[in-house]
Amino acid sequence: MSKRLRNSEVCADCSVSDPRWASVNRGVLVCDECCSVHRSLGRHSSQVRHLTHTPWPPTQLQMVQTLYNNGANSIWEHTLLDPASIMSGKRKANPQDKVHPNKAEFIRAKYQMLAFVHRMPCRDDDSCTAKDLSKQLHSSVRTGNLETCLRLLSLGAQANFFHPEKGNTPLHVAAKAGQVSQAELLTVYGADPGAPDTSGYTPIDYARQAGHHDLADRLVEIQYELTDRLAFYLCGRKPDHKNGEHFIIPQLADSSVDLSELAKAAKKKLQSLSNHLFEELAMDVYDEVDRRETDAVWLATQNHSTLVTETTVVPFLPVNPEYSSTRNQGRQKLARFNAHEFATLVIDILSDAKRRQLGNSVTSPRVDNVELILKSVGGCPVDDRQDNDQPDYDSVASDEDGDLDPASGKTDRAKSLDSDLSDSPVSVQEFQEVKNALALSEAKIQQLLKVNSNLSDELRHMQKKTTKQSSILDGDYDNTVNDAELEDSGAARRGRLRSSGWPGETGSMAELDDPEAESDGSLPSTEDVIRKTEQITKNIQELLRAAQENKHDSFVPCAERIHVAVSEMAALFPKKPRSDTVRGALRLLTSSAQRLQSECRKAAPMPESGPGQSLGPDMQLVTQQVIQCAYDIAKAAKQLVTITTKENNN
Ligand code: ZN
Repeated sequence: MSKRLRNSEVCADCSVSDPRWASVNRGVLVCDECCSVHRSLGRHSSQVRHLTHTPWPPTQLQMVQTLYNNGANSIWEHTLLDPASIMSGKRKANPQDKVHPNKAEFIRAKYQMLAFVHRMPCRDDDSCTAKDLSKQLHSSVRTGNLETCLRLLSLGAQANFFHPEKGNTPLHVAAKAGQVSQAELLTVYGADPGAPDTSGYTPIDYARQAGHHDLADRLVEIQYELTDRLAFYLCGRKPDHKNGEHFIIPQLADSSVDLSELAKAAKKKLQSLSNHLFEELAMDVYDEVDRRETDAVWLATQNHSTLVTETTVVPFLPVNPEYSSTRNQGRQKLARFNAHEFATLVIDILSDAKRRQLGNSVTSPRVDNVELILKSVGGCPVDDRQDNDQPDYDSVASDEDGDLDPASGKTDRAKSLDSDLSDSPVSVQEFQEVKNALALSEAKIQQLLKVNSNLSDELRHMQKKTTKQSSILDGDYDNTVNDAELEDSGAARRGRLRSSGWPGETGSMAELDDPEAESDGSLPSTEDVIRKTEQITKNIQELLRAAQENKHDSFVPCAERIHVAVSEMAALFPKKPRSDTVRGALRLLTSSAQRLQSECRKAAPMPESGPGQSLGPDMQLVTQQVIQCAYDIAKAAKQLVTITTKENNN
């Protein structure tokens, strides 16, 4: 019998108590398991945020809580309440249901197919058209009734609808009425705070004219949500919009480090993209930042009894059916960028966004269209301006792009980047910001330490399990197993492992279903991979502790130990593994380890500068990069454990 507290919150999908995640665009709270399914659907279906581990704009959290408390969930489950559907046996998921397939199927039906949303009966030809719904939305947003608006949006009302008679959009109305939550909801659905009405006034103007200054400030913030999030991802701070600062372009300590061909090609093509394509790419990168950050939160908040199951992994951006297949492929390729490459891309996008918005007077004469306004990247893409005739930017990010000219790839861009950076004087404010950023990266380290110690706990547990099995097999009850023992009992032990109920067996991670992997018989034993992973993890933990205690001179020795462990791990695998997944994980592992070493070397005090080296912004960025590399290494090692286990169980 479960003792559920009265009035306590329950998961909107399976009724487990104490949900820890929210879906911002659905206005519901969900449990960890259901959240993993939400994530696999993609942000166009559900935008998840952790209730306590994700930073929230307070008014957005307020909006979600209001929706949830007022029963927004019934919008998505409307027809389930119908007696007819109860008769037919349709029901929502139970806490006891398995994630796969039960909860996952229900969640897909509920949010992807909108299978249980109430379809309004049409009174006449006009009443259920998007236009009619949008008009209803336009008049509803002046009231505080959020659920009505969410219901209208769920039925197809357009957040950016321009009312032909009133001459403005729903967001103008909400802003004028000071309806903060309505404004939050509309912008989640893509409403543009910078859209002009017939007189040229924006919702921001309306809010200010009506004296709703906090709302006006928030709307400005929403307007810069995309670039703010990218900057925050890299350097842990956001521009001070109230004081007219709209962009921060972080600087990589060393941008001359080799990039992969994929990253070089993306970098090169970025500047020549039309504004439309640039905006698409920026949105895709935003989604990838969200994926990476949510992954980190996810890992930091799991209790790790299930750490290595596939349900915890969203290896790349899920397909958005509204996008072309080339764009979807391009989005998925972003996952292949290592920390350094991704940071480079993000910085390039930030500086290009700034250049495109501020005008073309600065550097590149090639882009002369400056009307681009980066808008909130809102949830369900209901943007009717989407133009599918244009080629996708992905043609850009192709692996096969052989005609690269690294020399010319650097000229313009590098110059414009320099000019963005050169005008930043070091002030008291700057110093304060560095301090804040350091505090933030410390919090990140804490998180990672937790991830890591959980990972090693789990590995120890697995090792014990496998060790025990091999011991039984070898007629040896001693818990310590040496390499020789492990080597000669391989095949039989694999048979045993299968029955050990390893959670990876039932997973559905697409990447692991690589048919080629089946025929790859030369993978190392699970025990060896786990052992090496544990070694890597131990060293990463040490490195993160050094980072936390600002012991920068420990970075290099730590990185070297990690590099050794990584090389040993890589040596376990065949030179040319047949499986793409193995190849990808190995590439991430070794390239991150190399990258880590070069980042750590930057942290080492220069012989000539002596021990009194001050902690500049560079050091803070280096630390960020070090952490990200460490994270990539841990992730790759975990992937290898998962893959090997799965393959050896087959
Ligand atoms: Zn749930």
